[in-house]
Amino acid sequence: MSVPRLRNYIGGEWVGGESGTVGAVMNPALDEVIAEVPLCGRQEVDAAVSAANEAFWDWRCTPPVTRARYMLRLKELLERDFEQLARTVTEENGKVIDEARGEVRRCIENVETAIGIPTLMMGYNSEDIAEGIDEEVVRQPLGVFACIAPFNFPAMVPFWFLPYAVAAGNTYVIKPSPQTPVSQSKLVALMEEAGFPPGVVGLVNGANEAADALLEHPHVRGVSFVGSTPVGKHIYQKACENGKRAQCQCGAKNFLVVMPDASLDRSVAAIMTSAYGCAGERCLAGSLVVAVGDVYGPLRAKLLDAASSLRVGYGLDESVHMGPVVSRKAQQRIVGYVDKGVEEGAKLLLDGRNIKVEGYPRGYFVGPTVFDDVDPAMTVAKDEIFGPVLGIIRVSSFDQALALIDAVPYGNAASLFTGSGKWAREFKYRVACGNIGINLGIAAPMSFFPFGGQKQSFFGDLHGQGQDAVRFFTDSKVVITRWL
Ligand code: NAD
Repeated sequence: MSVPRLRNYIGGEWVGGESGTVGAVMNPALDEVIAEVPLCGRQEVDAAVSAANEAFWDWRCTPPVTRARYMLRLKELLERDFEQLARTVTEENGKVIDEARGEVRRCIENVETAIGIPTLMMGYNSEDIAEGIDEEVVRQPLGVFACIAPFNFPAMVPFWFLPYAVAAGNTYVIKPSPQTPVSQSKLVALMEEAGFPPGVVGLVNGANEAADALLEHPHVRGVSFVGSTPVGKHIYQKACENGKRAQCQCGAKNFLVVMPDASLDRSVAAIMTSAYGCAGERCLAGSLVVAVGDVYGPLRAKLLDAASSLRVGYGLDESVHMGPVVSRKAQQRIVGYVDKGVEEGAKLLLDGRNIKVEGYPRGYFVGPTVFDDVDPAMTVAKDEIFGPVLGIIRVSSFDQALALIDAVPYGNAASLFTGSGKWAREFKYRVACGNIGINLGIAAPMSFFPFGGQKQSFFGDLHGQGQDAVRFFTDSKVVITRWL
């Protein structure tokens, strides 16, 4: 059976992809090819960036209120196609349909927030900084921005940035993950339908070469990268070398600390979503539960019980709690980590390695996995596994729990479960992570807030979402006037 070949969107035309290297986009539950993706390089990137650069000046001179109205039209189309977009996310990524709906909803929320651009990008001024002299700051767009996106939120991640960049008057080029590029093709087609002028948005499918070409292109002013830490370091370094603005949101190892005074049932429910939602392929996924003091025994029992009862299957089935991981390679990598955990002496309470899912014998499934007696020095406690594997570490005090979090190189997210205001305050005050959950397992910021990240989980100076997005995607130009 023939499958569609994706194309690039350059200067308002769907082009390319007929020749050259192609990759296969898989449905991970079925192990079936659902699309072919061209793996483009410098030439296509140059064409897309040049078209975006040509479109920039007209778009930049379009009043912000008019630009906001394009976003309004886009929002209507996103609502119209909501269910179909969510299905596409499940088909190419594997996450369950309700998670995919949440992802598409967040795309829409970012578009909604960006509609406020006429006020969000206002500047400020001061009269009489000296006699007869006034000073003002105006926020101006800069030119072409780009996004290099990961596989795990194929619809949402570029839409963390694009709505703000474009509403602020920049033009934009997206390079989706070659593993999950279909959602972006559909979203960009909706931008075309909404009437965005040619070149305002571009899409280039590709892998490393396309990403590097974006970072080297003289007309790209800034880049938003979301992906793993080693790649993020490379992207940040290259962006800096080439004088571009960069914000790189990277990998994670997130701790979920449970105090003895926490509500156990609610904490366990939140931990299940955190560890096993999106099959653990989420930068906010909790991967280590830290049980403080006496809570260990009852917590361990309830965690095991809850994880054992999760239903694994095809994400389009509404009754399923957890879908497959994205690829065979990811499945093998995760299983390798579980093997390593056993080898290094962690106690395997629940083994998801050989799960059989009825009706989907070839799917890339890993069942919910729970390790007990995890030592902070073990590989499973240090590396980002990015799969449905949860480890339990036992400590005797809050300070010990905090020391564990401090010791890892990542600083993406951390959660505390407690009934005490004192511990909650201490935690949010002291912990060196960007997204903090109190009695929440997934501290995912709303669209009008930035997405945090510290240490090796973020490279850059400014976050590109919510209110902070306006600072990333505009320059503060200072004008000083002597009134004659
Ligand atoms: P990845 O780093 O493999 O790929 C991300 C992007 O970089 C893709 O577009 C890929 O094509 C490109 N890329 C990969 N290698 C490259 C290279 N050598 N040179 C140039 N470009 C390259 O990440 P992934 O596996 O797609 O996504 C999972 C990772 O993303 C996890 O580490 C996860 O924690 C992270 N993530 C972070 C956040 C956050 O906000 N901090 C959000 C989502 C995902």
